[in-house]
Amino acid sequence: MKPIAPSARLAEVRYEIRGALARRARDMEAAGTPIVHLNIGNPGRFGFRAPAHLVDAIPAHLTHSDGYCQEQGIDEAREAIVARQHARGVADVDVDRVFIGNGVSELIDISLRALLGPGDEVLLPSPDYPLWSASTVLNGGRPRYYHCAAANDHLPDPEEMERLITPRTRAIVLINPNNPTGAVYPRALLERIVTLAARHDLLLLSDEIYDEIVYDDARFEPLAPLAGEVPCLSFSGLSKVHRACGFRIGWMSLSGDRRRTAQLRDALQLLSALRLCANVPAQWAVRAALEGPDTIGPLLRPGGRLHAARQAVLNGVAASRHLQLVAPRGALYAFPAVRADTLPTFDDSEFALRLLEEEGVLLAPGSSFNVEASRHLRLTLLPEPDTLRDVFARIERVLDRMSE
Ligand code: PLP
Repeated sequence: MKPIAPSARLAEVRYEIRGALARRARDMEAAGTPIVHLNIGNPGRFGFRAPAHLVDAIPAHLTHSDGYCQEQGIDEAREAIVARQHARGVADVDVDRVFIGNGVSELIDISLRALLGPGDEVLLPSPDYPLWSASTVLNGGRPRYYHCAAANDHLPDPEEMERLITPRTRAIVLINPNNPTGAVYPRALLERIVTLAARHDLLLLSDEIYDEIVYDDARFEPLAPLAGEVPCLSFSGLSKVHRACGFRIGWMSLSGDRRRTAQLRDALQLLSALRLCANVPAQWAVRAALEGPDTIGPLLRPGGRLHAARQAVLNGVAASRHLQLVAPRGALYAFPAVRADTLPTFDDSEFALRLLEEEGVLLAPGSSFNVEASRHLRLTLLPEPDTLRDVFARIERVLDRMSE
């Protein structure tokens, strides 16, 4: 009998952050080896709790949350998202242009499904957050990668972006602040990308899930206020800034010329309706999150846990013979690279496997993020600073052994 073959589209789809390496770590743990997990940006795993005012907002409404809600989300949450966008200077967002999903993950898929036909192209960053590439492929599209190289502080080059545009290009995806690199895009760069989108009739898709997570003097600039009439979908949610990724709540808001975006808006509503609605009880945390106190800022400033974790990573790299790093300016990751002068031939996947098997540390090799021939490693800044200090000693030991 013939095997049941999965869709051929899956041949191009990878999500290595939770792939073979992570499964190997699970097996090792089951066999009694303690593993330090640095591969996933899951705040709950590192002792962070969702702020109490988010948690408390849910039970008060549980008795009214047993039915499906409107496909785009409950009014109270969408109104709070509209108010946030107005405060940022995006006056043309209203509740009809806001969509709440089971995490930004679901909305990435819905937005690309609404947009793409077979063979349509999407400009994506390399490295990327791999769901963007996977969703592009699963919805019949083709990723075209613009490079965000360490030599350019992991920033995109709008001239390269423009060279990649073809008659099939439909959209530009930006991840800002960036996962995995920690880059935060300056306003002048964003303005150039908006100009490109305007010139070539492209939709802007701005993944801003780390919007309030910036370090030192870095400043996050939301794209929608700069995009003005240029059609733009902006994404954010509860998972990172509010440390509530288990709630599975994200949102996207549509801005720009109403005539040009009317059909897209209707398509997003239709696709939202097909999956009925997002988890209703957790939507009650949205207004609490957006109207409540700033709980992430204190973690990012001197004395805060994420500030100290980032410093531990910077110190670990500075003390290393093998590593170099463009200091992350935002988000929850560092993306160091192994220097070519101490290790001329380096395979990031082989290194990640050795680090796991020899030192019990799980991180994501750079090649998990759609980069060719990566010399990078991605680790999350969420652990305790002491754990990170210890991890750098273990990384150095493996790199020393590889360079012998
Ligand atoms: N976008 C980026 C850039 C991410 O890093 C993540 C999760 O790590 C997501 C989207 C998915 O977030 P959510 O938990 O809202 O589905």
